[in-house]
Amino acid sequence: MKLAILVGDRREVEAAGYFRGWVEEVVIAGCPVNLVPEGIGYTRGLPEALAGARLVVGPVLGLDSSGGIKNAYGCEMKLEETALASMQKGGLLFFGSSNPALEVAAAAAGVRVIPYRERDDFAILNSIPSAEGALQVAMENLPVTLHGSTALVLGLGRTGLTLARMLCGLGARTVVVARNPAQLARAAEMGCCPVPLRNLGAVIREGTVVFNTIPALVLNREVLGKAQPELLIIDLASAPGGTDFAGAGELGLKTIWALGLPGKVAPRTAGRAIFQVVASFLAREFPEEFADVKSLPTS
Ligand code: NAP
Repeated sequence: MKLAILVGDRREVEAAGYFRGWVEEVVIAGCPVNLVPEGIGYTRGLPEALAGARLVVGPVLGLDSSGGIKNAYGCEMKLEETALASMQKGGLLFFGSSNPALEVAAAAAGVRVIPYRERDDFAILNSIPSAEGALQVAMENLPVTLHGSTALVLGLGRTGLTLARMLCGLGARTVVVARNPAQLARAAEMGCCPVPLRNLGAVIREGTVVFNTIPALVLNREVLGKAQPELLIIDLASAPGGTDFAGAGELGLKTIWALGLPGKVAPRTAGRAIFQVVASFLAREFPEEFADVKSLPTS
């Protein structure tokens, strides 16, 4: 069986190493040849990579607006129907995210797209390097320790929960701000200070650092105007983020929009998460063909 890895950034390069030995043939496209892990076949481009593949694993980053694969190494790869049609019929295409054009091309080529970025199992594993990376950014930019500081975590979803737990472990006074009562109840259970989102303006002045995980404009000018001038804002939310960055700049507040942290701070762990999620999916849906990942090492 052939599996093709289409690289977006270092994460997929690292993922390739985990797939090695799990299926007979693993090939890779979209990275410089010197990065290709041992035992992985290097291909010059997408058509060669896809030909005869039963499985394709694409990048967490997904596609750009013109349908090209987002790629950190300047490699241009476009998933067109002709290339997809060279895959095995019934093949599976794992991609961070999908779009209608990809779905149409895949259906015409007789292959199935499985978007994995928003799956809970991936997002929870991915939250670990995200949260560690956020702490690293905070430590590099604060003049004080997180221990003893007041850290606000906006949103208690998959990323916020992991981050809040780590902050508690470091001894930060952790304030969780959310609109969802169940998340506030969880925050209380964890020993954090729960604050309804509508009260963000009242609580922000207590913050040494704010970590935002809410993908909506919650740190608006009115709220920012109540912050103390030394506040550090680390926004983790994907575009367009949750901060009025221009407004914060005018108020003299320091903001860092820290995107793509897993690939930057722990690409191997992030690559392993891709492998784990793909392998678990296959072991569950096709148990006779694919081994379970339970027997794998944990790092
Ligand atoms: P998630 O599990 O869906 O959590 C999102 C949180 O935001 C939840 O608490 C959710 O609560 C809340 N929320 C969503 N829309 C809201 C709104 N309009 N108003 C108030 N609260 C709202 O998402 P996640 O996996 O944690 O990811 C969070 C963000 O971080 C996403 O933008 C994701 O792309 C990004 N991310 C960034 C990195 C990085 O490296 N920077 C890494 C991972 C993820 P409700 O139940 O109230 O909706």
